[in-house]
Amino acid sequence: MALIDVYKNEVEQTWCPGCGHYSVLRALKIALARLEIQNHKAAIVSGIGCSGRIGGYIKAYGFHGIHGRSLPIAQGIKLANKNLTVVAAGGDGDGFAIGTGHAMHAIKRNIDITYLLMNNQVYGLTKGHTSPLSDLNFVTKSTPLGQVEDPLRPSLLALSAGGGFIAQGFSGRQEELIELIMKAIVHKGFSLINIFSPCVTFNPGKGYEWLRENLVSLDQDHDAGDYSGAFKTFLESEGLFTGLLYQKDAPDYQSRIQGASETPLAELDIKDTRPMDGLIEEFM
Ligand code: SF4
Ligand code: MG
Repeated sequence: MALIDVYKNEVEQTWCPGCGHYSVLRALKIALARLEIQNHKAAIVSGIGCSGRIGGYIKAYGFHGIHGRSLPIAQGIKLANKNLTVVAAGGDGDGFAIGTGHAMHAIKRNIDITYLLMNNQVYGLTKGHTSPLSDLNFVTKSTPLGQVEDPLRPSLLALSAGGGFIAQGFSGRQEELIELIMKAIVHKGFSLINIFSPCVTFNPGKGYEWLRENLVSLDQDHDAGDYSGAFKTFLESEGLFTGLLYQKDAPDYQSRIQGASETPLAELDIKDTRPMDGLIEEFM
C-alpha cells in the first residue's frame, strides 16, 4: 500500500465542489507520505470553519478544536510529545480574527509545528461575510456597500513577530504547495504557510482564474535568508506571490529549555506528585 493511502479514511468530504481546501488536504497527505511520516506519528489540529474539517478527513491523530484555538492545542500536543509531527490548520477568520493573539504568540514562541492558513478572505461556513483578511470594497451580506477596512497581512505580521519560516502557497499550484509543506514540516521551529485557497461559493471574485493571473512565483533568485529583502519582496508584490519568503535558523522553543528531558512528557512515568503538592499548599 502506498503510504498516502494510510491517510485515507471513510469520512464523507462535504466541501463545495471546487473548494480550494481539497487541494490543501491532498497536498498535506502527499507531503506527509513523501516524508515517510506514518499516520501514528502525525497529529492534525484544526479550528472552526470550513477549513476545520480538514483534520477529520485524514486518518491520523487529530483534534477538532474550538474557534481560533488550533494553535494553543497544537503547541500543547508538541510540548507533550515532541516525537509527533504536528500540523495546525485553519481559515483566515479562525486564525486572524478570534485567533490573532494566539497566532502572534505561536510565531514568537517558535515551537516546532507547521501552521497551514487556509486563506479564502471570507467566512465560508457562516455564509459569506467579511473576515479581517477580506479585501477593501469586498461586497458581502455584512458589507452591502463594500468593506471599508484594509486587510491584515499575515505574512508581514509573521515577519514582524520574528517568524522563522514564512511561505505562501496556492491551491491551484499543487506541486509547489506540496514542496512548501514538506519544507515547513522539516523546518525546526514554527512555520507558517499562508495558502490562497479559493472559496468558490462566497468569494468567487478571488477564484482560481484571478489568482492564476495575479500571483507571481518567487523565482530562484529570491534570497529567502534576507530579512529586510523579505519585507521588500512582500511590499513590491503587494503580497501577491507564492513561494518561500523567509527562513532562518534559530533554536526552537524546546531546545532552549535547559535540562529538558530527552524523553517526551507523554512517555514519562510521573508518579512523584510531591512538587505539585507543595505548590498547591502554598496557595491554600
Ligand atoms: Fe469551500 Fe467556501 Fe464551500 Fe466553505 S463555503 S466549503 S470555503 S467553497
Ligand atoms: Mg475563510
